[in-house]
Amino acid sequence: MVLLFLIVAVLAPTACVLWFMNEAARNQSDAARQHITEAYRGQLRLLREGVDTFWQQRAAELADASAGSPEDFRKLVVSGLADSVVYFDGDGSLVYPLPGNGRGADPANDPLKDRADWREAQTAEDRGSKGTPAAYARIARSATDANTAARAAQAQIRWLVQHGEKEPALQAIQENFVKGLAASGTDLQGRSIAADELRLALQLASPRDHRYRAAMDRLVALLNGYGRPAIPSAQRLFLMDEVRAISPDVRFPTYAAERLAAQFVDEDGARSNASTLQPSRVADVWKFSAQGGRVIALYRTATVVAAAHQVLAEKNASEQADFTLVPPGAASGEAAVMASPLLPGWQLSLSLLDTKPLEEAARRRTATYIWAGYLAIAVLAVTGLFLWQAFRSQLRLARLKTDLVAAVSHELKTPLASMRLLVDCLLDDAELDVKKTRDYLQLISGENARLSRLIDNFLTFARIERNRQRFEFSEIHPSEVVQAAVAAMRERIQMASPLEVEIGSDLPALHADGDALVTVLLNLLDNAYKYTPGEKRISLHAYRADGQVIFEVEDNGIGIPAREHKRIFRRFHQVDQRLARETGGCGLGLSIVEFIVRAHGGAVRVQSEIGAGSKFLVSLPTVEPAGGAGVASA
Ligand code: ADP
Repeated sequence: MVLLFLIVAVLAPTACVLWFMNEAARNQSDAARQHITEAYRGQLRLLREGVDTFWQQRAAELADASAGSPEDFRKLVVSGLADSVVYFDGDGSLVYPLPGNGRGADPANDPLKDRADWREAQTAEDRGSKGTPAAYARIARSATDANTAARAAQAQIRWLVQHGEKEPALQAIQENFVKGLAASGTDLQGRSIAADELRLALQLASPRDHRYRAAMDRLVALLNGYGRPAIPSAQRLFLMDEVRAISPDVRFPTYAAERLAAQFVDEDGARSNASTLQPSRVADVWKFSAQGGRVIALYRTATVVAAAHQVLAEKNASEQADFTLVPPGAASGEAAVMASPLLPGWQLSLSLLDTKPLEEAARRRTATYIWAGYLAIAVLAVTGLFLWQAFRSQLRLARLKTDLVAAVSHELKTPLASMRLLVDCLLDDAELDVKKTRDYLQLISGENARLSRLIDNFLTFARIERNRQRFEFSEIHPSEVVQAAVAAMRERIQMASPLEVEIGSDLPALHADGDALVTVLLNLLDNAYKYTPGEKRISLHAYRADGQVIFEVEDNGIGIPAREHKRIFRRFHQVDQRLARETGGCGLGLSIVEFIVRAHGGAVRVQSEIGAGSKFLVSLPTVEPAGGAGVASA
């Protein structure tokens, strides 16, 4: 729980710091944008005025433009005032693109129907008479108005083509439509007859024929001309497409404008009074109305942008920044402002040509934030770690205390209880038997010694834990230590079982705390007796090996499994707790041994197998330099 709490306590602020860093970096780039806009504010205002003035002029020109005739259309388009234009009259009917004459198509309205020679020629044609072309040719020649001449010539040519007479047909086209009165005639729908017939000539003549060239030149001039005859826009566009298909090099300056106007009429066609640039229903095309909606100028997005580009290029004094007009919804550069009231939604965008210094500054500041963030996270992590360590040591201490209290109370109880029992037995006797009393007192003394040993160990352990264990080092001979330990041991166990002692003859002196070393040997011997049931063969050897003094305590007891060899030196660790309880241990003896030996710069290790006894080896450095007199053992 505490670990979880600590993790949350560190992770939550870390997440906050990361979030803050992210926000700071983003604000940094916003601030940089703001900064640039401020720096170029004056320039932007100037350029915006330029764009606004440009469009106001354009609006004025459109308002003044004469409106309606095909020639007005051509002039406006060729002058570049708009990509295309659509005209309406006061009633809202379409004036240009020029519609055909729907009413004139009614045969009842045909002005030729009352002419006798026209009816005769028609009858001859219906009968299939060979005189038909001559009859029509006569009418064409004698006609005084263009439409009559053109329609008669058209009928003559139709008959000739239908009867396979290509040459005479070409001849008739040449005579009537390349020049002459018929060239400006129109049919009942208002379409130019000359244009259709010239197109026919291009089919009849071979491209090498001089009449082909003449027909082509005449047709192109007709389609590029916006005077008389007035060609309906649909016919003009159709024929322009035809000519472009045959001869792609031919140029029609108004072709794109005608196509755009036709597309607008098809897909949008709505009149509007808004004299601002509005989106039309044609993709990527904008409309601008003038003269109360009678003139609708059409602009492609690219044209609007290019026009502004010119204005901006003239006025932009800065070499570091580039200004462009961007349509509504398009992404803008570093900063943008509204372009003009006449161009709603369009923006004047500013892009820096060299953004490196700006990026560099932003990067530097962001890096500062990031480092500050990392520092904060590191401090948090270290604090968390520190708190965790502190908490763990508190936990360890608390556990140690409870273990100690449990061990002390339990271990003291047994010897005290047996002593009380022995004393009570003696007190109950009316007459004290000398031998029994001595035996009992002997037992009480044993229990007492065991108690003292326990208390000694507890006290040593408590001192070690509180860092209060002090050693008094002096020069001491190993044999003194061995003898002191053996004497104490004999006194304690009365040596019911033998103890084999061997001391090397040439052992060097040790620089050690004699009492502490005696405690080490006593703890090892104590264990050897405790954990050897039945017939005991215990030995204590002191000898010299590899420049060190080795104390070796060996028994023929129960042994220790290999996996326990390390663990038995831990505090309160017991291989078999039930057995340890019976023998009166509390799991502190070996941990004290290890502590003392280490404090002397030595090491303790165990060699043991289950059932085959154990051997504990304590090696201690001598005061002599290493590599002295070699191994000596008894
Ligand atoms: P204890 O007071 O329980 O003897 P120690 O720290 O002295 O505590 O020993 C730890 C454990 O190591 C003992 O409980 C016992 O299981 C095992 N041990 C120690 N010495 C021997 C030995 N000579 N033979 C077998 N087991 C031993």
